Amino acid sequence: MSTVLDADLHLHSRHAIGVSRYMDIPTLAHHAAEKGLTLMGTGDAQHPGWIAHLREHLIEEEDGLYRAANGTLFVAQTELEDKDMVHHLVILPSLDAAEDLGERIAATGANVTSNARPHLRMDGAGIAEIVRDVGGIIGPAHAFTPHRSLLREGAFTSVEACYRDRVADVRFLELGLSADTDMADTISSLHQLTFLSCSDAHGPQPHRIGREFVRLRMDELSFPALRHAIERSDVELNVGLDPRLGKYHLSSCNSCDRLFAPSAIPDDRRCSCGGAVRFGVSERVARLADLPEGRHPTGRPPYLRIMPLAELIAFSLGVKGVTSKRVVRVWRQLVAAGESEIAVLVDLSVEDIARVAGEKVALWVLAFRKGALTVLPGGGGRYGTFELG
Ligand SMILES: [Zn+2]
Ligand SMILES: [Zn+2]
Repeated sequence: MSTVLDADLHLHSRHAIGVSRYMDIPTLAHHAAEKGLTLMGTGDAQHPGWIAHLREHLIEEEDGLYRAANGTLFVAQTELEDKDMVHHLVILPSLDAAEDLGERIAATGANVTSNARPHLRMDGAGIAEIVRDVGGIIGPAHAFTPHRSLLREGAFTSVEACYRDRVADVRFLELGLSADTDMADTISSLHQLTFLSCSDAHGPQPHRIGREFVRLRMDELSFPALRHAIERSDVELNVGLDPRLGKYHLSSCNSCDRLFAPSAIPDDRRCSCGGAVRFGVSERVARLADLPEGRHPTGRPPYLRIMPLAELIAFSLGVKGVTSKRVVRVWRQLVAAGESEIAVLVDLSVEDIARVAGEKVALWVLAFRKGALTVLPGGGGRYGTFELG
C-alpha cells in the first residue's frame, strides 16, 4: 500500500557554518512533528561528529530510513561543494553509506571535519561518481541562486555541462527559495528532472524547517522507495514560498544593494553608484528560458505557495519578530487546533482560525491561500515582503 508524506530533504547540522547550535535531532524531530513533516533530511550526513550524534539519536527501522524517539523519520542527506563552487544535494541509502562517503571525500584531501558542507577539489561529474558508488542520488542544490549554484551566471548553462558523462544519474533539481515550477519549466532541458522544494534550513524552528517541502507518494517507507519516488517523479505537490519572497529573486547591485526589476537592468550592468548588477534568480532563469511560462511536462505537480505560519501571524498582528511572546502564543493555539502547522496553513477552516486567533490572522491566511497579496520582491540577500490587496 503506498503512502503519501510531506518531506523536507535539505537541511544542515549545527556543524555547518552559520547554523543554529540548537540544530540537534531531538529538537529537530520535535519541531518537525509540530510542523507536520514526516520525513526529514539529516543534513551534513558525512560529518564524523554529526554521524555520531545521528547514531545516538536515530534507530534504523526501515530499509535506509531512521526514526527519532518521537517517530519522525530521517534519511541520510548532505550538501557538497565542487571545485567550481557549485552546491550539490545528496541523499544517501544509510548512515554507513554516509560514513563511506565521508572517508572517500577525506581521501581526496578535502577537510570533512572542519566544514560540514565540504569543498571538494573535484568537478560535478567526479562527485556524482562517488555518490553513485556509495548508492546515493545527487542533483543541483538551489539551482539558480547567484551564489554557488549550478545554473548561476558564470557557472553552467545546463545540467549536462556540469555532470557530463554522469548526467544520466541526475534525476532531480532543487528549485531553491527564489524559484518555483512555473519559472524552472521555462527551461525545456529541465523538463526531464523531478523538482524538489526543500528548506535548506539552518535552524530547527518551525519557521525555518519546511519553508519548502515536497509531498511524495512512496510505495513503502524505505530508502529504495524514496529513491524510486524521486526518480519516477512521484511528487504530488511542491510546496514553498512565493518565489518573489526569496532573497535572491530580483537582480541587485553588488555595491549598494539596490534592487533591479528585469526591465530596469541597465545594458552595461552598471548601477548609478558604479557597482555591478548581479543577476537575481528571476533574471537568470529568464536568460536561460526557451519556453514561455505555463508549459509543463506531463506529470509535473502543482506548486502550492505557503509561508511560515509564525511569519504570517507576525505580519497579521503587526508584530516584529516571529519569536515574540504574542506570536508564539497564537502559533501554539493554532497548531493545537489544526494538529500541525501545515494543516493550519492548508486545511484549517477560516472560521476556526478566526475563532482561535482572531479575524485579522484569519483574513491574512485566507488572502495568502487565494494569492490575494501584493508582493514586494526580495533580492540581494534580503527576503521580500507583502501587503494585502
Ligand atoms: Zn548550498
Ligand atoms: Zn549600486
